[in-house]
This record gives sequence, structure tokens and C-alpha cells, in this order.
Amino acid sequence: MRNKPHSKIQKIVLHAQSTVPNPTSGTHYLNPSISLEEESEIQLPILRDHEIHVRPVVASVCKSEFLAVSSDLDGKSEFCGPASGWETDRGVILGHESSGIVHGVGNGVSRFKPGDRVTSDSLLPCWDCLTCREGSPNACLNAQLVGFQRDGCFTKSIILPERAATSLSPLIESVGESKGMDLGALAEPLACALHLLDEAKKAHPGLTQLIISGGGPIGAMVGLAARRENIETLIFEPDPARQKNLEALDLAWAHPVQDSANFRSSKLPACRVEIETSGKVDLKEKLRIAPPKATILLFARNSYQPSDVIEPMITKELTLRGVRGHVGFVEAAVHFLAQFPDDVAPLISRRFSGLEEIFNYLAAGHQTGDEMKVIGKI
Ligand SMILES: [Zn+2]
Ligand SMILES: [Zn+2]
Repeated sequence: MRNKPHSKIQKIVLHAQSTVPNPTSGTHYLNPSISLEEESEIQLPILRDHEIHVRPVVASVCKSEFLAVSSDLDGKSEFCGPASGWETDRGVILGHESSGIVHGVGNGVSRFKPGDRVTSDSLLPCWDCLTCREGSPNACLNAQLVGFQRDGCFTKSIILPERAATSLSPLIESVGESKGMDLGALAEPLACALHLLDEAKKAHPGLTQLIISGGGPIGAMVGLAARRENIETLIFEPDPARQKNLEALDLAWAHPVQDSANFRSSKLPACRVEIETSGKVDLKEKLRIAPPKATILLFARNSYQPSDVIEPMITKELTLRGVRGHVGFVEAAVHFLAQFPDDVAPLISRRFSGLEEIFNYLAAGHQTGDEMKVIGKI
């Protein structure tokens, strides 16, 4: 066993050999790997205007971290969002779901002071391009991803624009410090779920029924949030371990193949919106069984080849849309956690007590279906 003197600061770093262009906006990485590295002590950063320095306390592990670490036969990372910096000697510190304590603030910071408990956005829009100015920061093409394009939270120190932080006060007042910091690390994925639900409601005002593909953490969180708004949901999930998780949360599920189109239309006849959070669906099949005038919101990234998509889209006047990110929904997520902590707390399926345990978990390279949100003290 290695000795870990207390003065050493650990960090989980993502490295890659080089980059490979990706057909949309970013790059795949060639031969990605992760390492657990140590620094002798925290370097106190020089903060620019409107930046804050946060000490992460609890971090949560996301599927995208596993995708970044795993690669296909050509060595290309499965993660296909925009990313940069991994191929430098330094690499990039992983991690983008966390709660933490503000340690320092730069000039012009007005919303936070040292000691404040915060959670942070993982997507940092430029706030300056036309897309941002038109009010769609989640679709900003200049956005930077924390933990992929700039250093993330799997260490004891992270720098963020003030605008990317949200106070956890309402949550900590509701459930106390320890549970509040644990749940605060889930604010980012919950905010993604709230964003999806908001888009579903905008697509079909008065929404009463919703289909969700994929019973992982995001799909389950959409289901929990929808239930609080009296929207009936059905989650399609083939993995028995995930089905058991959904049952424990009292969320209705069905098998995506065995329980097919007929089942779906008899079960949720008014359903016109489907949210895709699995990243594993056959899009052609989705379009084939969709009712007329349906909207399909694609959230999980998927490497399927959409062909034969035009005909059902025209005949049934379907809408197929991508949804990304959580910016603008984190405050709502913190309030949801404060109001309904016991809805979300059962999603925590495992707790780690340090970065070394999180590293070993990531290095094992895969997540079993019975895991929902895995969190760890930093
Ligand atoms: Zn994530
Ligand atoms: Zn922008």
C-alpha cells in the first residue's frame, strides 16, 4: 500500500495520445487513460475578475466519465462531445458534478463569499454569441465543458466563473450540512432532467403523459420530477438491475422490445413526447412506433446511423430535437432537492470515501446496471 501523507493533494487526470476530429463540433481522443496523481500542496490560484475558487467536498460520478476513459478498437474515446487539452502532458482533471465550499473570490464577485456552500455548472457558455444572447446558452458552440476542456472537480480545488455557481443554502437549510452536500453533488444531473422536462412541456403544453427511454440516473430523475407535476411516465428499460432500481423509486417501467408499440399506445394513449436518455436506441424503430405529431427529445449521445428517418417524420409530422445541458435549471434543481430530498436520495447507490476509491472505480472501466449515482468525499 502506498503512503499518503496528508499534505499531498490527489487528482484524477485524463490523458490522451492525440485527437481525432469528430463529425460534429469536437474531437474524439486517441488512447485515453486516467491516472491518480499527487501534488505536494494546493497552489493558491490567482483569480481573474468574476471568478471563484471552490474546494470540492462531494463529487458524483457520471456516465460520460466512463465514456471518456473507454475507447473503441481504433483507440478512439467513446466520449464524443467537444473536448480539449487531454493530449497535453498535463492532461485534464476529470469530474463535473460536485458540491463544495467557496474558498476565495476574485474582483467583482457579488453573489458569493468564502465559506458559502455551492454546486457548479458543468457547461460554461460564452454568454456572448448570438445563441447565448438569444437565450439558449445550453446550445452555445463556444461552451466549455468542466472536467473535459478545463480542470474539473476530482481534486481539492476548482476555479469557476461566479455565474457558473449556485448557492446550496436552501438545500442545507432543509436537510442539514452532510445530506445537503451529498445531494448538492446531484444538482447538475437533476438540472439536466429538469431542462428535459421543461422542453417536453414547451413542446406539448398541458403535457399529462411522458415516455422516457432509459432508466439510468437521468431517465429516473426526469420520472421523479414529472411525478411531482402529476405527469404520468413510463420508462423503457431492458436491464433487470435498472428495472429493480426503478421499482424501488416507484417509477413505472416497461421492456422496450417485449412491450412494443401496441403496449405503449394502450398504456399511454395521450403521450406525444418521448425523451431519449439511454444512448442505445434504434432511432428508426422510435420513429416507426411514434404516434402522429410526436416530439422526440434526444439527450444521450449515440453513435447510431440515422437512415430511413425522413418518411415517418413527414407522414406523421414528427419533431426530433436535441437537448443539451442544464444551464438555467440548477437553482430549480437545488430547490427541488430541498423540497423533495427523499425523492432523489435513494438514487445514491454507493458512497466512496476518497479520490483513490473513485479512481479505482473509474479505472475498472464500466458501471453495472445496479449503480445509479455514485458519490464520494473528495
Ligand atoms: Zn454528467
Ligand atoms: Zn455562446
